Amino acid sequence: MIRTTCAYCGVGCGITAQVTGEREVTITGDPEHPANRGKLCSKGTHLGETVGLEGRLLHPEIDGRRANWDKAIRHVARRFKDTIARHGPDSVAFYVSGQLLTEDYYVANKLMKGFIGCANIDTNSRLCMSSAVAGHIRAFGEDVVPASYDDLDRADLIVLVGSNTAWCHPIVYQRIMAARAARGTKVVVIDPRRTETCEEADLHLALRPGSDVALMNGLLAYCSDNGIVDPDFLEAHVATPEGFWEALAEGCDLWSTAAACDLAPTDLLAFYELFARHERTVTLFSQGINQSIRGTDQVNAILNLHLATGRVGKPGAAPFSITGQPNAMGGREVGGLATTLAAHRDFAPGNRAEVGRFWAAPRMAEKPGLKAVDLFRAVGEGRVKALWVMATNPAVSLPDAGRVREALAACPFVVVSDCIAGTDTARYAHVKLPALAWGEKDGTVTNSERTVSRQRALLPPPGEAKPDWWIVKEVARAMGWRDAFTYDRAADIYREHARLSAYRNDGQRLFDIGAHGSITNARYETMAPFRWGETPFADGRFSTPDGKARLVAVAQMPLDGALPKWPLTLNTGRYRDHWHTMTRTGLSPRLSQHRREPMVELHPLDAEQHGVDDGDLVRVATPQGASVFRALVSDGQRRGEIFVPIHWTDRQSSAGRTGLLPRPLVDPHSGQPGFKATPARLEKLAHDWRGFLVARVEPERIPAAYFTKVRVAQGWLVELAGEGDPAAAAKALLPPGERVEIADAARGGLRIAVLGSGRVSAAFYATRHGRLPDRDWMIAQLSAREAASSVELLAGRPAAPLPDRGPIVCACFDVGLKTILEAISVQQMVTVEAVGAALSAGTNCGSCRPAIQRLLGGRKEAAHG
Ligand code: SF4
Repeated sequence: MIRTTCAYCGVGCGITAQVTGEREVTITGDPEHPANRGKLCSKGTHLGETVGLEGRLLHPEIDGRRANWDKAIRHVARRFKDTIARHGPDSVAFYVSGQLLTEDYYVANKLMKGFIGCANIDTNSRLCMSSAVAGHIRAFGEDVVPASYDDLDRADLIVLVGSNTAWCHPIVYQRIMAARAARGTKVVVIDPRRTETCEEADLHLALRPGSDVALMNGLLAYCSDNGIVDPDFLEAHVATPEGFWEALAEGCDLWSTAAACDLAPTDLLAFYELFARHERTVTLFSQGINQSIRGTDQVNAILNLHLATGRVGKPGAAPFSITGQPNAMGGREVGGLATTLAAHRDFAPGNRAEVGRFWAAPRMAEKPGLKAVDLFRAVGEGRVKALWVMATNPAVSLPDAGRVREALAACPFVVVSDCIAGTDTARYAHVKLPALAWGEKDGTVTNSERTVSRQRALLPPPGEAKPDWWIVKEVARAMGWRDAFTYDRAADIYREHARLSAYRNDGQRLFDIGAHGSITNARYETMAPFRWGETPFADGRFSTPDGKARLVAVAQMPLDGALPKWPLTLNTGRYRDHWHTMTRTGLSPRLSQHRREPMVELHPLDAEQHGVDDGDLVRVATPQGASVFRALVSDGQRRGEIFVPIHWTDRQSSAGRTGLLPRPLVDPHSGQPGFKATPARLEKLAHDWRGFLVARVEPERIPAAYFTKVRVAQGWLVELAGEGDPAAAAKALLPPGERVEIADAARGGLRIAVLGSGRVSAAFYATRHGRLPDRDWMIAQLSAREAASSVELLAGRPAAPLPDRGPIVCACFDVGLKTILEAISVQQMVTVEAVGAALSAGTNCGSCRPAIQRLLGGRKEAAHG
């Protein structure tokens, strides 16, 4: 049994893994890990389905041809050195990832900032939480998250702002729900969308997108007027800028705030009163706050509230930024952002000199480097001529991703180190370097509550894949810095990182893990999770020169009104069971069941106005580009606002890429792009026919106007729509073999099943006007030992009809929406526990419990068929 850490989100759950065969592991939650105490969500639970070698990059390649490591390393080093020699250090850049381990991050950061002499190393965490970093530094003097998960157990009020916690951080959500059940903790959700996180909330404020500063300032003014601020704490521990309170007196009254936020004053007042009554308040915020062109101000509006009311540094009272990625926090510790130096330092001359001395660095970066969006703009403009992308997929994930692709295509030298061979970004690589994947890596990660955990290798390195830190180290040595990059193992790097955190610190920075500076290899091997900075700011001392925190005057900026050409506002986010661009979760049939297509969620009145029904195909356009989604009509959306997921790429869809749509506008302080409010419009698409394919073998070329492709048990499901005769698509998609086939001229239908060795190897169903068969029964035919009868295959259902279970809600036990609704109705269930007892749904990972709660509430999630 091996203890390690989950690959996905910033909750950082501990895992116990058992290797059960070649590339086979069983996964359970680690009962001793403080983040999850044995629980795992659906993504963590099904990690074992993702450790195969499918799609892996296993050998170095130069210009598409296999090369050995020695040649590849020398080639990369030479091209970077030549570029620096001819154009200077600012002409090269690294774009790295919150998926890297802290040790990987450390070595890449050291090479770029201390040896190449430039700070052009930024991370995809820029897209996730850099506004929180900027806000923390402005308020606290250091990027410290002053909360822990224990605070969720102790709080009397938890305010979730811009966070679909139930889907994006499920184990934290379950912890909140457990605290609520045990202690009656009040929960308020502030989010323009009514998500599953709202199901058990006491109050949901569906505010106008981008009006968070108005809301928080309104609450702060209320606190000031009603004696809720803590004058003693303010006096002793907080510096208040001149005119701060006077500015709040302007336009922050209840009525003006309600109007600015588009909320009912009574709801707003209910929130204010809850906040006033409960001193132990945790405000947990996430991408809805950070991913905004006003993100840093929004963060500081939250921090202002906690500072002014003295709700920080105390049990159950803190602002809590929760990160998206598994090691965004580790990246922050080593200075993985272009705007920070290692060990929570900035680019002040003293810090540069001290870090330079510690590293014995020949050429320290003198100033912050290019932030992600600016970095790729510089690539596109030819200012950056050599780029190394590590463990991330910017061709999909950055805003205005079409421009990013153009930049990558025009860049003279692109290196991609990744575990996956065919990412959208890897297509532009001159050199591909095979990196280890989650189950093979060894090092540390830091989660959202500052707990450092070991990630341990479960499986041997496949092919010639290497640790990311090893790849960077070898390039650094080949560039001429042999003595500074002598690491033999991850523990060597961890020790250096720990020593740097303590170097000339003298209590100036809370991040100090110097006690591990001489940890032995054996102790590193067995290191248990630990949290640094037990209760930050408990003594009222902050990391500023005078020890005081800062209130930061922030004002609500005017919001964009609807434009005639772009009448809708586009929001983007995540699905419960998928992660980023699905390079890992897309390998899991179970995780792919929850949402098999990317959907645009829209309000019923917007749907009516656009003539869109549930299940229609819809083209969503913004000034940057257009993508196609399946419509999901939902009264959880505000009128005029639409939501799409971020996960689909060109590999899995004809046009489901969301990265094309957002504007490349960024927050002026953090450089974080605003993904949450892009002017948009939509139109219903009409195709001649629609259909689907199930197939054992993944179809590579799909000749249809629309397709999305997901993994299912024993094969693939491809949703299709197209023009002309569907027979042409069927001919191209179906493998050779014995066929049963029927065409229905009246409805424009075509149904073909292909058999091989008595089993179904593929089946194609298309119609112009009629209904399509149930996907799940057809998917099950791929696993059946014997093909069903021809009549059944052509009907797309068994002779004795099975109950239609509807879309899958519980991925662990394959329980569908219709099954749950029927059980609720027939057995008159009123609790999630009763549903669990009857159907098992929600009794394993618990990720679907909010969905079951919603069904119990009598609301129906629309299903398309
Ligand atoms: S909440 Fe889920 S995805 Fe996040 S770390 Fe835990 S198990 Fe992994």
